[in-house]
Amino acid sequence: MIKENLHNIQTSLPENVTLVAVSKTKPVSDLQEAYDAGQRIFGENKIQEMTEKWEQLPKDIQWHMIGHVQRNKVKYMAPYVSLIHGVDTFKLLKEVDKQAVKNERIIECLLQVHIAEEDTKFGFDAAELQETIALEDFSALKNVKVVGLMGMATFTEDTTQVAREFQSLKSLFDSLKTATSDNLEMKILSMGMSGDYKIAIENGSTMVRIGSSIFGARNYQ
Ligand SMILES: *Cc1c(COP(=O)(O)O)cnc(C)c1O
Repeated sequence: MIKENLHNIQTSLPENVTLVAVSKTKPVSDLQEAYDAGQRIFGENKIQEMTEKWEQLPKDIQWHMIGHVQRNKVKYMAPYVSLIHGVDTFKLLKEVDKQAVKNERIIECLLQVHIAEEDTKFGFDAAELQETIALEDFSALKNVKVVGLMGMATFTEDTTQVAREFQSLKSLFDSLKTATSDNLEMKILSMGMSGDYKIAIENGSTMVRIGSSIFGARNYQ
């Protein structure tokens, strides 16, 4: 099942779109099955769960943290995390930088932008984001690299609204492409999940985060 689902999604994606297989709550055996089918990028939303899986699975997996990150837990993933999607405050970015220094590496991050018209999600708004990357303190961070933006649309049947929200993130992304510096380069636009990734791709997504369409519905207990 997992293998077929992965194959079907992979073949439907345009070449420039990267698939993150969102494996949160799923057992290591499911991830191994996806790995055996060729998948190398996995997304998790809890640092402890991701670290346990990292310890058990092959070391050529790229681990993406897609969930909300608490600053006091960054240290546990700093040795190995490949991309942090949900950086939503400057304070968090500074903590990632600090832990990256300790691990002598550069950690790639996406800034999470609040695009949903409903107001329950984390993230910067456009103005805050512009201010943050203009800070001198931002350019001083040498061990993080902001490589793009991430956003989540409202959970709604209204596809016009979803498209409009993705479009707003794409415009912001494009407007920042000229702002390239040592620790900033807009190359990844992470948007789209099982229910809305096709709309996200139509609106410029370059990275989709898909869980239930690959691994089946999650069972939260
Ligand atoms: C769980 C999750 C996903 C994947 O959701 P599905 O609907 O199962 O594809 C994508 N992005 C984030 C941030 C998530 O938390």
